[in-house]
Amino acid sequence: MQSDIEIANAAVLRPIREIAQETLGIGEEHLVPYGHYKAKVDIGYLNSLTDRPLGKLVLVTALSPTPPGEGKTTTTVGLTDALHGMGHRTVACLREPSMGPVFGMKGGAAGGGWSQVVPMTDINLHFTGDFAAIAAANNLLAALIDNHVHHGNELDIDVRSVTWKRVIDMNDRALREVTVALGGHANGFPRSDGFDIVVASELMAIFCLTESWADLKKRIGDIVVAYDRSTQPVTARDLNAHGAMAALLRDALAPNLVQTLEGAPAFVHGGPFANIAHGCSSVMATRAGLRLADIVVTEAGFGADLGAEKFVDIKCRKSGLRPDVAVVVATVRALKYHGGVALADLGTEDVAAVEAGMVNLRRHLDNVRNVYGIPCVVAVNRFPTDTEAEVARVVELVADAGVQAFPATHFADGGNGAKDLAEGVLASLAQPSPHEFSFTYDDDASLTEKVEAIATRLYGAGIVTWDAKARRRLLRIERDGYSGLPVCVAKTQYSFSTDPTSLGAPSGHELHVREVRLSAGAGFVVVVCGDMMTMPGLPRDPSAARIDLADDGTILGLS
Ligand code: ADP
Ligand code: MG
Repeated sequence: MQSDIEIANAAVLRPIREIAQETLGIGEEHLVPYGHYKAKVDIGYLNSLTDRPLGKLVLVTALSPTPPGEGKTTTTVGLTDALHGMGHRTVACLREPSMGPVFGMKGGAAGGGWSQVVPMTDINLHFTGDFAAIAAANNLLAALIDNHVHHGNELDIDVRSVTWKRVIDMNDRALREVTVALGGHANGFPRSDGFDIVVASELMAIFCLTESWADLKKRIGDIVVAYDRSTQPVTARDLNAHGAMAALLRDALAPNLVQTLEGAPAFVHGGPFANIAHGCSSVMATRAGLRLADIVVTEAGFGADLGAEKFVDIKCRKSGLRPDVAVVVATVRALKYHGGVALADLGTEDVAAVEAGMVNLRRHLDNVRNVYGIPCVVAVNRFPTDTEAEVARVVELVADAGVQAFPATHFADGGNGAKDLAEGVLASLAQPSPHEFSFTYDDDASLTEKVEAIATRLYGAGIVTWDAKARRRLLRIERDGYSGLPVCVAKTQYSFSTDPTSLGAPSGHELHVREVRLSAGAGFVVVVCGDMMTMPGLPRDPSAARIDLADDGTILGLS
C-alpha cells in the first residue's frame, strides 16, 4: 500500500468553491479562499444562518490508545466519506495539526491511508495561518506584561507571579525555561519565564470555545496573567490587551473548509491539546457544520476518559451542543496491549489477549452510556495484522456488553470500508436515545467534588490526593470566585490511572493532583495529575529528518 503522503500527493483535488457549493450549499461570495483548495467561511454568513435547524452530532472517541494512536481522525474521515457516499449531507470537524508533532514523533494529523483530508501538506504545514495568529496574539500579551512592568508597573504586578508564557508552534525543549529581559536597564526587569507550544496555550482553548468575536474579546479580557503584590488577579483586560489580541484573531476565527479524498467537506479548525486544554476542534466549526449539514462527525482527543469527558463537561456544557451518538474506536492491537501483550508483539494473533484487554473498552463504553448518557457504537478500525478470529471475537465481546461493533476498513478502502459503520450510526440516530445526556458533575459542586466525580465515576479511582501547593492554589482560585468553572484534568491518555503502564481497567487507585492552574478566559481549572508536557521535545530520530522538498516543489516524507 502507498504511504499517506503518496496517496495525498496523487489525489486530484476539486476547487474548494465547488465542494462548498455542491456539498454544503455555500455560495462562492461567502468563502474567503486561501488558494484554490482551502477557504475560510465568512463569519457574517454563518451568523445569518442562526435560524436553521441543527443537524445530528456524531462524536468520535476511543478506548485508551497505544502510543501510535488507534485511528480516531482516520475513522472520522472514513465515516464522513461513507455517509457522504450514501447521499447524506455530512461534514467532518477536525483539529488543525500542530507542527510540533509533525516534525517530532507522531507525524501529521490529517487522517491516514484512503481516509484523509487534503491538501495534506498544507493542512500539516502552516495551513491558513491560524496558529501563527494565535501565537502572535499570545505573544502580544506577553510583551504587554513586560512592557507594563518596565514603564512603572502601575498595576503593581508581582513579576514572580506571572503565569502567562510566550508560545511557538514547535517542539523545542531548549525554550522550556528561559530568563527574559537580561542585558541591562533598557531591557526591563529580568525574570524567569518559559515557552509553551501554541496548542497548549490558554488562547488556543479560548479560540476553540468561542462563539463570536464579542465572546472572543470578553474571554481574552478574562485571562488572568499574574497577581499583584496584594495577591489580587491581574487580567488581560487590566492591561488593555484584549482588543488588540482579538483584532489579531478576527480572520482566524472563521472555520477552514477543505475536502476529503472522496470530496466530502471537512472543517479543520483549532487544535488544543487534550491534556492542559479540552482537545476538541472549534465550537465555531461544529456549530457551522450543524447548520450547514445534516450530520457532523467530529473527533475529541485521546480516549473517552479524557477527550470525550472534556467534550461533554467543557465544550457541551459551555456551548449547549449535544452529541447524538458516540463512535468509540477500538483496535485489535490496543485490546491486545491492554491484555498484556508488548508493543513489539502486537502483530501476532492472540485472541485470549483480546479478551483480557476488553476490560478497558468495556469501562469506556459504560462511561459513555451511563455517565455521559450518549448512545454508542464501536468502530473496529482494522489493521493489516488483525486476524479474522480476533476481529470476530471483538464483535462478540462488544455485543455481550450491549453495544454493536462494526469492523471497518476505511484506511485501506476509503468510505466504502466504513459503510456498515455508517449504517450503524444512522440506525442509532434514527432511534430515540435510551439514555439521558448528562454531565459528570454539576456546576455548583466544589472544584474538589468535581475532580472526585471524574476520578471515581470515570477512572475507577479510590481516592484523590493533593500536593499541599496544589491544594493552596485551589483555595486561592475558589477565593477569587472561580469555583463555578468546570475542571480539565491533565493526565496520561494511556491508562485510566495516572500511571501510563497501568493498562486495562485499574480500580481503587489514587489520583494525585500535583498542580492546579486557572484558565479563566477559557473558563476551566486545569488539574494536573502526573507529568504534563506543555512544551514537548523532539525525539532522537525526528520526523523532520525525513521531510523534504523535491526540485519540482513536491513535499515529501510527511506521515
Ligand atoms: P488518532 O486520531 O486516534 O490519534 P489517527 O487517525 O491519527 O489516530 O491514526 C494514528 C496513526 O495510525 C496514523 O499514522 C494513521 O495513518 C494510522 N492508522 C490509522 N488507522 C489505520 C489502519 N486501519 N491501518 C493502518 N494504519 C492506520
Ligand atoms: Mg486524531
